[in-house]
Amino acid sequence: MNSIDPLTGFLNRFGCIQTTMKLVANSTADAKPLAVIWVDLDRFKQINESFGHLGGDEVIESLGARFRNRVSGRAELARMGGDEFVFLMPNCDRNHAQQLAGELANTVEEPLAIGNLTLRPTASVGIAIHEPDEDPLALLDRADRAMFAAKSRGGNSIVCSGDEPIPGRLGITLAREELSIENNLHTALETGGFSLHYQPIIRADGSIEAAEALMRCSVGGENISPGKFIPVAEKTGLIIRLGEWSLLQGAMHARLLQDAGYHTKVAINVSRAQLVSPKFTQALHAALVCSNVKPELVELELTESLFMDISDIVQKNLKNAIAAGVGLAIDDFGTGYSCLANLKDIPAGKLKLDRAFVTVLPEDKRALAVVRAMTQLGHELGMTIVAEGCETKEQIDALLDAGVDAIQGFFYARPMPEETLLPWLQSRNDNK
Ligand code: C2E
Ligand code: MG
Ligand code: MG
Repeated sequence: MNSIDPLTGFLNRFGCIQTTMKLVANSTADAKPLAVIWVDLDRFKQINESFGHLGGDEVIESLGARFRNRVSGRAELARMGGDEFVFLMPNCDRNHAQQLAGELANTVEEPLAIGNLTLRPTASVGIAIHEPDEDPLALLDRADRAMFAAKSRGGNSIVCSGDEPIPGRLGITLAREELSIENNLHTALETGGFSLHYQPIIRADGSIEAAEALMRCSVGGENISPGKFIPVAEKTGLIIRLGEWSLLQGAMHARLLQDAGYHTKVAINVSRAQLVSPKFTQALHAALVCSNVKPELVELELTESLFMDISDIVQKNLKNAIAAGVGLAIDDFGTGYSCLANLKDIPAGKLKLDRAFVTVLPEDKRALAVVRAMTQLGHELGMTIVAEGCETKEQIDALLDAGVDAIQGFFYARPMPEETLLPWLQSRNDNK
């Protein structure tokens, strides 16, 4: 039987088992330790999905070449299929194996160009040292389990067999929940389970400033909340595809409103993962061209930290978005790393005050003072100020009194399905 993997020239699974048997016998005879290091790339599935199997093969081939350079002569190299590599190291104790595992992990992390994108893959690594009388297959199995323990930690880590933590229930539950959400996201992609809901943003004079597009995910009749699925989509890279889809859908809906005679902007949320991708500008242009909407009717909602990101690619994407004529808004302002002084450097026309400031109104006078100050500063910088999450008339009164320009919240309208927005706008006109 052939024992070589054609893509990398390494041993294949069969060759690996055969060689492990031979090395176990040698190590027992020489009384020298034998180490097995099992390396599994993190999120290889996403690489395959984003770049196709040819792209996936390219990644495996490049990593194979790097591994060969790094450990050539010191280890037997095997590819166990897919994205799993095994290194068999004769005369290698635990310390030495840990050091080598670290080197291999660093090798994986070096930037890797594929197409016009640069990936920074990571790996989960498991280590097992042969124990007296241990069966070769049991040794491989322990290395595989240690790798799995590293993966369960969220990937990008190294675990030695025997050191696997006895996972706390919380950790296991969380990892399982994330895996199940990831699974549901794939199902939703295949079954058309994603949709955009729209929540109107209303000016002090009652006119409509914009409608925010909010993604919804439904699988088998069950809805998963964005608070749960967006972080998983971001972690797994799926947000890139979802984000492209929401840009297009949102722009198309803005066009539909434009055709119906409404000058209502559609605000689309954009994640960091999208803005650090060189493909972002292309996706934005595609959405604008396909929808043929006036660019000023499309607005991108970004968190403040993205505006402060000085990496070339983010700067370039922001510059291109501005050049394309779309509006930019700072979402959830006032939380996280927000700093008022940063506002002067941010090329956004809108500031959305986080719900945290709103829920404590009207009682919390200090929060109101902060809202008033942020609003004043924003106005001086020429920005429109929106308050998010307004649920009561009292909150709205306090916010309008503080000078806020527009209100978004359940008090006026909950996010509604796409087909309901236009009738909702029309009924408001009719009622005036
Ligand atoms: P966000 O962009 O700050 O969106 C506003 C969130 O506040 C929405 O939650 C909306 O339903 C909720 N909200 C609005 N008014 C009220 C109110 O009066 N009371 C309360 N309690 N909540 C209110 P949702 O739809 O669950 O979305 C949560 C977050 O998920 C969004 O926060 C946004 O960060 C993210 N998200 C949603 N859709 C997308 C998307 O298409 N792409 C990306 N990247 N992120 C999205
Ligand atoms: Mg938003
Ligand atoms: Mg927000």
